[in-house]
Amino acid sequence: MYPPKIGYVIPDSIEEAIEFLQQHEDARPLAGGHSLIPALKLRIIRPSYLVEIRRFQQLNYVKREGNIYKIGALTTHYDMIKSNVPLLSDAAKTIGDPQVRNMGTIGGVISHLDPAADYPASLIAMDAKVLIRGKKGQRLVDFKDFAKDMFTPDLNPGELVTEIQVPAFDGYKFSYQKLERRAGDYAIVGVAVLLKVNGSRIEDARIGLTAVNNIAVRAKGAEEELIGKELTEEVVEKASTRAMESANPTSDIRGSAEYKKKMVKVLVKRGINQALGGVRK
Ligand SMILES: Cc1cc2nc3c(=O)[nH]c(=O)nc-3n(C[C@H](O)[C@H](O)[C@H](O)COP(=O)(O)OP(=O)(O)OC[C@H]3O[C@@H](n4cnc5c(N)ncnc54)[C@H](O)[C@@H]3O)c2cc1C
Repeated sequence: MYPPKIGYVIPDSIEEAIEFLQQHEDARPLAGGHSLIPALKLRIIRPSYLVEIRRFQQLNYVKREGNIYKIGALTTHYDMIKSNVPLLSDAAKTIGDPQVRNMGTIGGVISHLDPAADYPASLIAMDAKVLIRGKKGQRLVDFKDFAKDMFTPDLNPGELVTEIQVPAFDGYKFSYQKLERRAGDYAIVGVAVLLKVNGSRIEDARIGLTAVNNIAVRAKGAEEELIGKELTEEVVEKASTRAMESANPTSDIRGSAEYKKKMVKVLVKRGINQALGGVRK
C-alpha cells in the first residue's frame, strides 16, 4: 500500500526528461501511473526518481498522415476510444475500468509490456512501429522487435517512447475479442482479427493473440488457412483450430493452460464472424 521513498522530477521539456533519465539509470518515467504506481505500492520496484512526463501533452494526439495513423505515446485509453483507429479503439474500450482508461496511456502499456495487455494483440496484427527518442535522436522499430519479452521493451536508459504508428488498413474488417472473468479484469485470452475480403474470397488475414504467450504473437497457422480461400464455415473452423498452434499459455488464477488454448479457438472464430458480420455459407 505504501510506496518507498522516491525523488520526484518535473522536467520543463522532453529533452530535460531524457537528459535526467540518462543520468539516473534507475529513474522511471511516469505516464498514466496505472502500472507503475501499483508496482510501487507493492514495493516490487524501488526507483530512485519518478520523472513526470505526463504533462507533455504535445505527446497526446492521434493523427492520420497518408495511410498511417500516428499516435502520441501519452494518448490515454479514453482518447484512443474516441479516435476510432481500427482495432486499437476497440481494444481500448476493454481496458480496465473508466478510471484506468482516463489515466493509462498507450505508450505506458507498451513500455510496461504486461503479457496480458490488450493493445499488443492489435499492434502485432497491424505491424505497428514504435518511435523512440533518446539523447542521440530518434529511432523507429517494429513493435515485434520492440517487445523483446514480457516486461522487457527495447528501451535503453534515457529513451522514451514518443509515438506508435499503424497502417490505416482501409477496407479491412476487424474485431477485438476479450475473454475476461469480469468487467475491468485483464484478458484471459485476447484476439485481434483483421480481414480483407473481396466478394467471398479472403485476400488478407492478420490475427494477433495476447495473454497466451510471453509476448503477443501472430496466429500464423490460422492466417495461412484463411488467405486466398473462399470464405466458408469450414475454412473458418480450420483456421480457428490452427490458431491454437500459436498459443502457449500458462495455468494461473484465470484458468488452466488447456482451457485458455481452447478459448483461443473460440475467440478466433468469434472474432472472424464478428468482423464479417456473419459467415457466408
Ligand atoms: C485496475 C487496473 C486494471 C487494468 N486493466 C487492464 C486491462 O484490462 N488491459 C490492459 O492492457 N491494461 C490494464 N491495466 C494497465 C493500464 O492499462 C496501464 O495504464 C498501463 O499498463 C500502463 O500505462 P500508464 O500510462 O499507466 O503507464 P505507467 O504506469 O506510468 O508506466 C508503466 C511503465 O512504462 C514506463 N513508461 C511509461 N510511459 C513511457 C514512455 N512514453 N516511454 C518509456 N517508458 C514509459 C514507466 O516508466 C513504467 O515502467 C490495468 C491497470 C489497473 C490499475
